Amino acid sequence: MLEVRDLIVDYDKTEVVRGISFEIKKGEIVSLIGANGAGKTTTLRTLTGLKRARSGSVLLEGQAIQGLPAHRIAGLGLAHVPEGRGIFPFMTVPENLEMGGYLNRDKASFRRNLETVFERFPVLRRRQHQLAGSMSGGEQQMLAIGRALMGNPKLLVLDEPSLGLSPVMCQEIVRVLTELRAAGRTIILVEQNARMALRLADRAYVLDRGRIVLQGRGRDLLDNPNVRTAYLGLA
Ligand code: ATP
Repeated sequence: MLEVRDLIVDYDKTEVVRGISFEIKKGEIVSLIGANGAGKTTTLRTLTGLKRARSGSVLLEGQAIQGLPAHRIAGLGLAHVPEGRGIFPFMTVPENLEMGGYLNRDKASFRRNLETVFERFPVLRRRQHQLAGSMSGGEQQMLAIGRALMGNPKLLVLDEPSLGLSPVMCQEIVRVLTELRAAGRTIILVEQNARMALRLADRAYVLDRGRIVLQGRGRDLLDNPNVRTAYLGLA
């Protein structure tokens, strides 16, 4: 579905993504893990058009999308849930969800998508009259994911969904992502929580200072001695 080739991204001529290539197949959860500053967020921002690559290509179902503006890439089916969620705190839950469905001008399918999101996240239905900013961190993360789903995206791009959440809420996120995969969604996930990311992932890539240093099935990487010492804090 998505193919990234020889991607190089820099800030002020300092390369932070230094020639990475990877792919995401339809229906997979692919995780990117790595230390702080490895280039994970920058990679996601480049996929969704928020940052321009110096060179390399990003192909969505064979179509080159690198260099297109972010709204065009969103329209082609990449939905970005940014680190920090990016919800609108002074809007209600349905108003926030509407912002994610803005590409969908047909009222009937908008309502259908809204109902699907409420079914997947019952807490959002219960909180629908509340301002988003007054919800818990976990609920806000559900809202951010729900909003991304409103556009019925081909690829869900998730940056640190578990950041700042309690262990119970992290389990909720794991449950939601597992359900989304079972429903046929394709997901790329960046996580500081490497254990969670590798458990969820069909396949994963380990980034170190802008380069992919390891790749494999999530469960194989969980057993990899280098991954265990460097990223899972296990001897
Ligand atoms: P984290 O988990 O800390 O977000 P990351 O793997 O997502 O780490 P990035 O956020 O992609 O890493 O950052 C990669 C490098 O690029 C870091 O050295 C960071 O300081 C630098 N960087 C990120 N954003 C900018 C920016 N807007 N301007 C300049 N440098 C930046």
